[in-house]
This record gives sequence, C-alpha cells and structure tokens, in this order.
Amino acid sequence: MKIGFIGLGNMGGPMAANLAGAGHEVVGFDLIAPMPSGVTAATSSALAVSGAEVVISMLPNGTILRYVAAQVIPEMADGAVFCDCSTVDVESARAVADMAAAAGLGALDAPVSGGVGGATAGTLTFMVGGTEEAFAKVQPLFEIMGQKAVHCGAAGAGQSAKICNNMILGVTMIATCEAFALADKLGLSREKMFNVVSTSSGYSWAMNAYCPAPGVGPKSPADNGYKPGFAAELMLKDLRLSQQAAETADADTPMGQMATDLYAQFVEDEGGKGMDFSAMLPRFEKRGRG
Ligand code: NAD
Repeated sequence: MKIGFIGLGNMGGPMAANLAGAGHEVVGFDLIAPMPSGVTAATSSALAVSGAEVVISMLPNGTILRYVAAQVIPEMADGAVFCDCSTVDVESARAVADMAAAAGLGALDAPVSGGVGGATAGTLTFMVGGTEEAFAKVQPLFEIMGQKAVHCGAAGAGQSAKICNNMILGVTMIATCEAFALADKLGLSREKMFNVVSTSSGYSWAMNAYCPAPGVGPKSPADNGYKPGFAAELMLKDLRLSQQAAETADADTPMGQMATDLYAQFVEDEGGKGMDFSAMLPRFEKRGRG
C-alpha cells in the first residue's frame, strides 16, 4: 500500500518504520524529526500524501492536527482514508472527519495506548472511530503497528474511549499512591500492602501491573527512578482532554477534575515534569494533611 505519514516523532517514527519494514511504500513528512529507516522523505505534507491510499498522522495536539488536515485533505487521492493516531480533543477529531467527508474521503480517529515501547515493538492498541469502510481499509496497517484495534463507533469514538480510559487510569493511580502513603504512615509494609490489595477489591492495573512502589510487584518505572514510562505531563494532557470533553458534553466528573488539578500541580509546580505518572507516590510520601 502507498502510505503518507505526517509526524515522525517519538511515536510516529517507529510506527512508520514498522509499516515500511512490512513492505509498504511509506512517504513521510515532519518539521524536525529525522526520517525513520525505510521511509522516503517528502519536502512538504502535501507531497507526502500525494497518491497515498492511506494517510496517517501522529501529531502533538488538535490545533496542529486541524492545520495539517486542512493542508493535506485537498491533496489526497480519491477514495483515500485520513487516519489520525494522535491524542486530541473529541471536537477536533470530529471536525477533521467532517473535512474529509466534505472532500469525499474516509477518516478515522485512532489514538493509541502502549507508548513508545509499544510503537517500537508493533504492539500498540488502537481505539478507532469512523466508518466501517474506512476501518476495514486501514485494519491491515493496524495489525502491523499494533496487536489490537477496536472499532469503537462513529467519528470521535476512538478519542472518547481513550480519554475515558485514561481518566480512570489517572484517578486510579492517584488513589493507589495515596493509599500506599497512608499505609506507610500506619506502619504497614509496602510488600504486605501489595500482597493484600493486588488480590483484593482494591486491585487495578495501576496496582497490579504498574505498581508505583519501588521493589514491589512486577518491574515498573518505580524500579527505574520513575523515569517514564508514561510521563506525568502526558497524563495531564489526557486528563485535560477528558475535562474539556466533559465540559462540552455536560458530564459531571469530579474525580477526573481532581486528578487533573493534582497532576497540573505536580507537573507545573512540583517538579513532576519528565517523571513517570506513578511518581505521585513519592509526592504523597513527603506530605502531611496540612
Ligand atoms: P512528538 O512530539 O515526539 O512527535 C510529534 C511530531 O509531530 C514531532 O516530530 C513534530 O516535529 C511533528 N510535527 C508537529 N507539527 C507538525 C506539522 N505541522 N507537520 C509535520 N510534523 C509536525 O510526540 P509523540 O510522543 O510522538 O506523540 C504524538 C502523539 O501521540 C501525541 O498526540 C501524544 O499525546 C500521543 N501519544 C503519545 C504517547 C507517548 O508515550 N509518547 C503515548 C500515547 C499517545
């Protein structure tokens, strides 16, 4: 397949390399990132998408996505699909789908989970919104870049699934970290705390698979000085998107809002930027109620 790929940063670079490695003809464009191996460089986004059957983008945010989509959609071939894999606001995803539909093209919002490790290993999970037809066309590419692609519904459904999932994750990680910090102060060992909670009703992915306490449970960023992993600022980005969507949809999300506020404080005022999102545990550890 002929593929145009826009945005070849930490995530897009290895995703494009995997597509090229599987034998697809990939033409890429990025403002600054180097071309991954096997990907042909184009000098503009319009040239990267010319003649492509599928265009994939992996960009920082919704504003940049809308800008890039407005540039490339008029240049895309008849019947082609624009598949955005960035994490952006639901409204931008829907606006880009409308832009593509008006030009007679297919569109998918297909954000991922799995991080840079998953992008490199080709084991991402895709959460996809858009038509059945567009999904079917891109599915063979999802199979190369990932291990699972869930068609969640119409345009915007992929982004909706992603931010709801990550809102649960942010809230759960905070709850897990504050419980560990409380257990410390009650004199309960972290090992015992893990043994009980990981097999009791307080269990979660944050506790069982990504334990924020170093030396406890399976290996996680906590065992590596809280080097990400999934950086606290990326969690903050996703939490903010969840609250933006909640505002638009008039949904009451008090825990999501509190998690957003706590991660904002952590990232912006307490040196949490560049640390894994599980570094909330050392943050709570140092604090009392005052
Ligand atoms: P990144 O900053 O490394 O990559 C983004 C790339 O887009 C950069 O190389 C930048 O030069 C390029 N870019 C910006 N504007 C452009 C334009 N107008 N034309 C062409 N290229 C342009 O970011 P990343 O970590 O690769 O993340 C990309 C997306 O994936 C984000 O939306 C992020 O939220 C999401 N995501 C990231 C992770 C992660 O662990 N890094 C995990 C899941 C989802």
